[in-house]
Amino acid sequence: MKKVFVTRPIPENGIKMLKDKGFEVVVNDAAKDRAATKEELLSGVKGADAVLSILTDKIDAEIMEVGLPTLKIIANYAVGYDNLDIKGAKERNILVTNTPGVLTEAVAEHTFALLLAVAKRIPEADKFARAGNYHAWGPELLLGTDVAEKNLGIVGLGRIGSEVARHAYNGFNMKILYTDPKPNPEFEKTFNATYVDTIDNLLPQCDFVSIHVPLMDSTRHLINDERLHKMKPTAYLINTSRGPIVDEAALAKALKEGTIKGAALDVFEFEPAINEDLKKLDNAVITPHIASGTMKTRAKMAELAAANIIEVLEGRTPANLVQ
Ligand code: NAD
Repeated sequence: MKKVFVTRPIPENGIKMLKDKGFEVVVNDAAKDRAATKEELLSGVKGADAVLSILTDKIDAEIMEVGLPTLKIIANYAVGYDNLDIKGAKERNILVTNTPGVLTEAVAEHTFALLLAVAKRIPEADKFARAGNYHAWGPELLLGTDVAEKNLGIVGLGRIGSEVARHAYNGFNMKILYTDPKPNPEFEKTFNATYVDTIDNLLPQCDFVSIHVPLMDSTRHLINDERLHKMKPTAYLINTSRGPIVDEAALAKALKEGTIKGAALDVFEFEPAINEDLKKLDNAVITPHIASGTMKTRAKMAELAAANIIEVLEGRTPANLVQ
C-alpha cells in the first residue's frame, strides 16, 4: 500500500481524496497548532511514497535522503516553495508541486485589507476607541490617508500582483505602476498601467508599494535600508509575499524615523518571530501569515495538493510541477 505522510493536519477533503484512492494516509496530528519538528519529519518520511508538506516544514536533503528509495513527490501546500530544497529534490528524482492559482483571490483581498487598514489606521483607531479614549468627534482625530487615485506600485506582476492591481484600478481608480522581469503589455492596456524598468525607479513614484515576488536568492532583502530611503516619506509598504524579502530591522527603523509613513505585513523575516520594535509601532499593521486563510481557499489548496500526489502515485504528470 502506498503511504502518504501529511506533515500537519489540513482540511479533511484533501485527506479523503487520498484515502479514497486506497493510500495509507499518516497525518502528523501532533503538529496542529505548531510547526512539525525535524524528528517528526524524519520519522514520517521514512517509507513514504509522498509527502504533503506545509510552508513551516524545512524539507532539506537529510529528510529527503531518509525518504529514499520510496519517496517520489513532495506536494507543498502553498504557492511559494522556498521551504524546500529544490536542488536536493531534483538530484534525488523527487518531484515537487505547489498550489498556485487557488489562493490568488484570498491573498489579493487580504493585501487590500492591509492596505486600507494601514491607510485608515484601523487597528490603531480600534485600540483607541476600546481603551475609552473617544471623548468627542475631532477635526483632526486619527487622520488617515486617501487611497483613491493614488499611485500603487506592484513589485511582481504575477497572479496575486495582477489581482491586487485589478482591485486597486476597478475599486479605487488607483494609478498602477509595476515592475517585473516580464512586462505585460496586455495588462497595461486593460488597467492603464505603466511598466517601470527597475524597482529603484518604481519606489520614488509610489504612494503605496505592494510586494508579490517569490522568495529567491535574488529577492532576499529586495527591500532594504537603501530602497526604503527611495520611497516617499508619505508612502506605505505592503508585504504579503515572504518575510525575508524585506529587511525587517531596516523597516522598523524606517517606520520609527519617518522614512516612510507606514507598513502592513502578513509575513516576517524570522517568522513566527516578529521584530520587537515593529510590534511596538502604531504605523505597522501586522497579521500572522493568514492571507490565504479562508475556508474555501484552504480546502481548494488541500484538493490541489492531494490531486498532485494522486497524479504522481498513479504514474501521471502532476498539474503543478515546480521542478
Ligand atoms: P507568481 O509566480 O504568479 O508571480 C510572481 C511574479 O514575480 C512573477 O510575475 C515574476 O516574474 C515576478 N518576479 C520575480 N522576481 C522579481 C523581481 N526581482 N522583481 C519583480 N518581479 C519579480 O506568484 P503568485 O502566485 O502571484 O505568488 C507570489 C508570492 O506570494 C509567492 O511566491 C508566495 O511566496 C507569496 N504568497 C504568500 C501568501 C501568504 O499567505 N501571505 C499566499 C500565497 C502566496
